[in-house]
Amino acid sequence: MIKYLDLKDITALHKDEINAAVTRVVNGGWYLQGAANDDFCQKFAAYIGTRHCVGCGNGLDALTLILRAYKEMGVLKDGDEVIVPANTYIATILAITGNRLKPVLVEPRWDTFQIDDSLIEQAITPRTRAIMIVHLYGRCAYTELIGDICRRHNLKLIEDNAQAHGCTHGGRRTGSLGDAAAHSFYPGKNLGALGDAGAVTTDDAELAEMVRSLGNYGSERKYVFSHIGVNSRLDEIQAAVLAVKLPYLDHENERRRGHALYYIRYINNPAVSVPTEDYWQENVFHIFPLMSPHRDELMQYLQDNGVQTAIHYPIPPHKQQAYAAWSAMSLPITERIHREELSLPISPTLTDGERQKVVELINGFVPSRV
Ligand SMILES: *Cc1c(COP(=O)(O)O)cnc(C)c1O
Repeated sequence: MIKYLDLKDITALHKDEINAAVTRVVNGGWYLQGAANDDFCQKFAAYIGTRHCVGCGNGLDALTLILRAYKEMGVLKDGDEVIVPANTYIATILAITGNRLKPVLVEPRWDTFQIDDSLIEQAITPRTRAIMIVHLYGRCAYTELIGDICRRHNLKLIEDNAQAHGCTHGGRRTGSLGDAAAHSFYPGKNLGALGDAGAVTTDDAELAEMVRSLGNYGSERKYVFSHIGVNSRLDEIQAAVLAVKLPYLDHENERRRGHALYYIRYINNPAVSVPTEDYWQENVFHIFPLMSPHRDELMQYLQDNGVQTAIHYPIPPHKQQAYAAWSAMSLPITERIHREELSLPISPTLTDGERQKVVELINGFVPSRV
């Protein structure tokens, strides 16, 4: 069976270094907010290209803490609007509604699956305060037009970089393109921990300190609480693991990009549509998305022939029961993506032989109806 993603294999690539790093933390006797956290955050900020990095519990918390911090700083108020791509993962939306802000869902482009920048300006109202872009599937969502709109309308630009660690735009990394960025190190992400972990990167010192305080019970000094905070910290073991894996990230992303180019060049079945070589630019391929009106049948056929695939995602946020009030909204491109998307195996541990088998199978697929 060719697995969609084998985390055991990925961890095994760095097993000895990871074991040594974890053992150092275990033997050191200091498990939170210590040297490993400082070390990783400093390295990650340098890698992304921002002045500050603050570790936190997970990616959702990173998103939530950024918005929360802007509220404490008086930049955002209850009911303010945040523009966001309609086809994002639910966490982006949860962070907005969880802060009593209003998500304004904007359709993606069919060719890049990223927020359609030509639709953003018409979504701006007097309550709009921020745009949250999501570098979905590992593809850069930032465009010069988005930067320009934020400057002209005085909007904060927040990046959800959970899926795009290492992606670059004009020589700068995603996570350094806006005012603040949220990162998830969920095990399956391009840079994954061995459990939950997340971080915020920013050049804004005030924002960084507010996020740090809010994630530590709202405290800047021990037992003195200036804000109503939460507990969301990056633990020492996860930080040590991430510091081991970070130097290999670019190499592993190159391996993903190699698989993607192979799929783009060699899949040629008219029953599926494959992204273009243009889509391949500015992309670290957290996910390789195929689109097909025969998606479910194709998925079953691949499964029957020993290839595991995944769907990102089967139901868009506005059709989820959690947001039942939005169910009448019509977002045809988003809905089509959720109907047709199929993610192929693209792990850095996938072999050349395995990706060849995936292509041969897809090219041999004949849908039962036309
Ligand atoms: C994974 C993910 C998150 C949430 O990260 P967690 O660490 O699982 O909380 C947020 N946004 C996007 C786009 C993601 O893919």
